[in-house]
Formats: sequence, C-alpha cells, structure tokens
Amino acid sequence: MSFRQFNLHMQIEKGIEALGYTAPTPIQLQSMPVILQGKDVMGLAQTGTGKTAAFALPILQRLMSGPRRTLRALIIAPTRELAEQIHEVIGGLGRATKLKSVTVYGGVNKNPQIRALCQGVEIAVACPGRLLDLADQGEIDLSHIEVLVLDEADRMFDMGFLPDIRKIMKRLPTKRQTLLFSATMPDDIRKLAKDILHDPVTIRIGTGAPVSTVSHALYPVEPHLKTALLMKLIERTDTESVLVFARTKHRTTRVAEQMKRAGFPVASLQGNLTQNRRQDALSGFREGKYQILVATDIAARGIDVSGISHVINYDMPDTVDAYTHRIGRTGRAAKTGDAFTFVTSQDRAFVGDIEHVLGERIERRTLTDFDYNVPAPAGSSDAADRPRHSVGRRPARVSEYAPVKKRGDSVHGASRPSGRRSGTRSLEGFSAFRSSSKTR
Ligand code: AMP
Repeated sequence: MSFRQFNLHMQIEKGIEALGYTAPTPIQLQSMPVILQGKDVMGLAQTGTGKTAAFALPILQRLMSGPRRTLRALIIAPTRELAEQIHEVIGGLGRATKLKSVTVYGGVNKNPQIRALCQGVEIAVACPGRLLDLADQGEIDLSHIEVLVLDEADRMFDMGFLPDIRKIMKRLPTKRQTLLFSATMPDDIRKLAKDILHDPVTIRIGTGAPVSTVSHALYPVEPHLKTALLMKLIERTDTESVLVFARTKHRTTRVAEQMKRAGFPVASLQGNLTQNRRQDALSGFREGKYQILVATDIAARGIDVSGISHVINYDMPDTVDAYTHRIGRTGRAAKTGDAFTFVTSQDRAFVGDIEHVLGERIERRTLTDFDYNVPAPAGSSDAADRPRHSVGRRPARVSEYAPVKKRGDSVHGASRPSGRRSGTRSLEGFSAFRSSSKTR
C-alpha cells in the first residue's frame, strides 16, 4: 500500500516523501478516503497511530483549491505542545504547498499570533482558551472555516475545555466538515459528537489499549525507594530517551533535581514552567541534550520525540486512559518501546484495570542488586503517594486481587521484602504479584 492511492496533489506527495513516510498506517488507510470525500469522522484512535497525518493530508488536499490566505481549517488541541506538534507535521507535509498554518495558544504573547493571522493563513492549530479570547476580540475570523478537527477530545474534556469548545462551535459556519478524534469515548464526548457531527463515519483503530509495539512491565516498590529504583533502572537498562511520569508538579521537580544531583542528564516539564523553560526542556529532550525528561501528564501531553525508548511511570496514572496516553509516547509508528510502571501496594487494584484493557497480565519484575529493604526515613509520609484512581472511568476490579498464596517470589538476585518492618510500609499486597523470573 502506498500513499499514491489517495491521488494527493504532487506537492503534498513531496511532503510525505520528505517526512519519510513510505506506507500509510492503518488509521490513514481507513480514514483518509472518507475524509477526502468530505464526510464527518469520529476517529477512535490510540496515540502514536499516525492520526495527525490522517487528517492533515486530506486538509492540505482540500486547501489546494479555493481561496488562499483565508482561514479555512481549524484544528483544536488540548495543549500547546500538541498544537505545536500538529503545526510541525502540517509544516512538514505541506512544505511545498505554500499553505500556511499558525498556532494559537495561551501562555505566550498574543501579538505574533495576531500578526500571523492578519498576514493571512489557511490553517490554525489552536488551544480552546486563547482561540476564544481572540475570537471575542475580533482578532480571528472563523466565518470561512470549512473543516474543523477536534483532536484528543477526551483529554480536552478531562481538562475542562468542553464549555469552551461549545462556545467555539457557535462561532463556526454550520456547513462544514468535522473530524473528532479521541482515544476513549466517555459519555460527554459521545454527547458532544452527537451534537456536532453530521452522519459521521466511525473509525476505530485498536480497542483503546495502548499501542501494541510497547512491552509492559511492573516494578513493585515501596514509595520511599522509587527515586533510587528509577536511577538504578536507568543505569542498568539500555535506553535511548526516557520519559518519566510523576503525579504532581512538585514531585516532577523533586525527582528531576535528585537525578540531576546524581549526574543524570535530566530536565523536568510541568505546567508551572515559563514557555521558554518548557521549550528548552522539550527541545533539549528532542535533541538528546537531556536523555531523561520527568513530566506531569498534562505537560507531557502530545510530546512526540521519535527516540523515546522507555516510558517509566514513577507514579501510577490516575486512569487507564492516562496510562494509554502516557504509553503512547513510546513505541510510536511501529517502533518498539518499553513501558515500566512502579507500583506500590496501594496501586494493586488499579493494575487489574490496566491488565483488563491490555488483555493480558503484565509481567512483574524486580531489579537485581537493588536493596529493597532500605527502611523509609522516620516520619516520611508523602500524601502524593496515595493513588487517586477513583477518577478512573471503570471501577477498580479488586476481586482479581483477592489475596493469593504467596508464590512466585523467585526473584533472581534481589532480596524481596517479606513482611512488615518498622519504619517501612508493608509489601504484603505484592503477594498477588506473581513475579516472573525475568529480571534485569
Ligand atoms: P501521531 O499519532 O499522529 O502522533 O503520529 C505518531 C508518529 O508516527 C509521528 O512521529 C509521525 O511522524 C509518525 N507517522 C505518521 N504517519 C506515518 C507513516 N505513514 N509512516 C511512518 N511514520 C508515520
């Protein structure tokens, strides 16, 4: 299968070649013909499947005819990082077309965005808040929009953007093509889709499980040993770029600082950083200056760094969807990647949810030569270690984790804590983790 079958404009084919895409991915194969026909699409696609090009290519094709320097395509994304990434893909695919795209998001000076809009662009890639601001101020003319894309709609819902999205809808022409992409389908998104899509074709890639090019492993550990385990694990594993997820901004900064002190090439990415520092962290990570990036979920949203070989969940995510999104940062477009997740005894019910979605049991690993017996410092109690999985979309399936006979603790080279010690939290819950013999 090649891109030729889509009969795209020659200048667009040049862009495909320049990006090195030789064959369409499954979502491109399924959705591009439908989008090219002008139909509305509801795309249920995992991250890392190539969905950006799946909508960007037909949009470029549409814009090749018709007026130039008129804003005709609007793509709405939840975060500025994702907006930048989509803008870059459009820039790469559309280089030879002379079509122009602009990003519109908050946290930066709005004047350059307004100037770019005044000069005339065909495509805007926007986050909802700034887009509404500019629309309210009359700085962006949405009256000629022919095609609207809502990307990562479930994440926009998680971030509270749905009211803004509905306001934006009211400003758009009713006669338009609408494409809605979402990795999952919570009720509110289903309702939004019903309201804004006209006779949509539904395209489903995968079942909401994380990309299958990723292999998964769990590392049971007590909370106070997570940073030490993280450093040991990275030292001992053959990695390219490593993306580490922590639960809060504070933890993100703390873990990165501890690693930096220990000599690791690390940067952190969290929502409190200035745009300059975010860019430095992101470009440094992309270019290999920082091999490790510690980030919160929202900050890491949409990161597309081709060499991410490992995603490490320092903290378990809040929902199965968040796990899917995090893991989608590695194993992108048929590359393989490893997803390691640190689990404390409090996380174990949630592990069942993830395994259910994956459709398989995740291997438990322990690290040889790592001292799992170091007691917690006196008085340490980190509230953020307490998982918040209750926000998951499915109730935790605790039943799978009814205590089982302690077995399978046959861990090579690592001593496994066997009970309660003073100053440490109990790891008895891990009896349910039938550890595999594979260790690193
Ligand atoms: P996305 O799901 O759009 O974020 O894309 C994931 C990654 O796949 C990005 O790095 C894209 O550049 C890459 N990609 C998209 N389509 C193709 C393709 N047809 N062949 C190879 N790589 C692709």
